[in-house]
Amino acid sequence: VWMPVSIFISLLAAAFISRLLTRMQTSRYRLANALKHRALTLHYQPVVELQSGRVVGAEALVRWQQSDGTQLSPDVFITLAEQTGMINELSRYVVDNVFAEMAEWLREHPTQHIAINLAAQDLTSTVLLDRLNELCDEYGVAHHQIAIELTERSFAQPEITGPILARYRQAGYPVCIDDFGTGYSSLSYLQELDVDVLKIDKSFIAALDRKRVTPHIIDMARSLELEMVAEGVEDADQEAWLHRHGVQYGQGWLYSKALPGPAFIAWAERNLGQNEDESLLES
Ligand code: C2E
Ligand code: MG
Ligand code: MG
Ligand code: MG
Repeated sequence: VWMPVSIFISLLAAAFISRLLTRMQTSRYRLANALKHRALTLHYQPVVELQSGRVVGAEALVRWQQSDGTQLSPDVFITLAEQTGMINELSRYVVDNVFAEMAEWLREHPTQHIAINLAAQDLTSTVLLDRLNELCDEYGVAHHQIAIELTERSFAQPEITGPILARYRQAGYPVCIDDFGTGYSSLSYLQELDVDVLKIDKSFIAALDRKRVTPHIIDMARSLELEMVAEGVEDADQEAWLHRHGVQYGQGWLYSKALPGPAFIAWAERNLGQNEDESLLES
């Protein structure tokens, strides 16, 4: 009687695995197709200086437009892209589109920047770095205007990603640690890592008065002389708290959601117009 049972179980397992594979294949196929048909779009979320309220740049966030008009969250398909080996192609797509959409505005505003999210797999070779250098040359954008964001997961194998990361910094691209506090943060590696900006994860910004560790994150970033961006700033109380505690920059719905390129540019021009004193300094 056990023989048929074990055969049955194996069949069940085989069926399950093949369904899983089919699903991954289908999604991979759909994602490849989306890249090919340019169904991925970029939105830009402003980053503002808390002291002045002035925009200093934006983060590029990818969106997948579905045929029914809805948008799929990058939290879902970035993982998929990482698992199916399509992330390099996706990153290349994002980088190319950032320049196509934003280079002109960046040239007109040499102190503004665009931050681009990269994955650990993008740091296993210099292919993307070479592409960035090429695009900056071609479009006349300064390297300091293109920041790269990496989550702590990208630092899980520092012996692989470390040397490439160092080359980004040598080339003058600011490097940000994204979602800080949610990953593998070990204080010792943070000290060794050569990064410029720490982005405090939004989970440390929500209900700030109940968060005991946030002031320590801020102190630590300050002692490492890192600039700080608070993510997910949703209300004026949070903004005041962050400013009081010495965080320089904020990003969140209080200022704006991520917007399509032209809408972001319009938003930024309005913002800079309201802060004209400083924009005179820039020109
Ligand atoms: P992230 O880089 O930490 O981006 C910030 C996320 O917080 C964005 O989610 C943004 O829409 C959301 N957000 C902004 N302001 C607020 C706020 O005030 N409150 C709340 N609750 N959320 C806010 P989004 O666009 O869904 O992106 C999710 C994640 O997907 C990103 O997190 C990033 O890790 C990844 N991602 C997005 N675009 C790319 C990309 O082009 N390449 C790669 N590799 N990853 C990307
Ligand atoms: Mg980010
Ligand atoms: Mg983040
Ligand atoms: Mg995130």
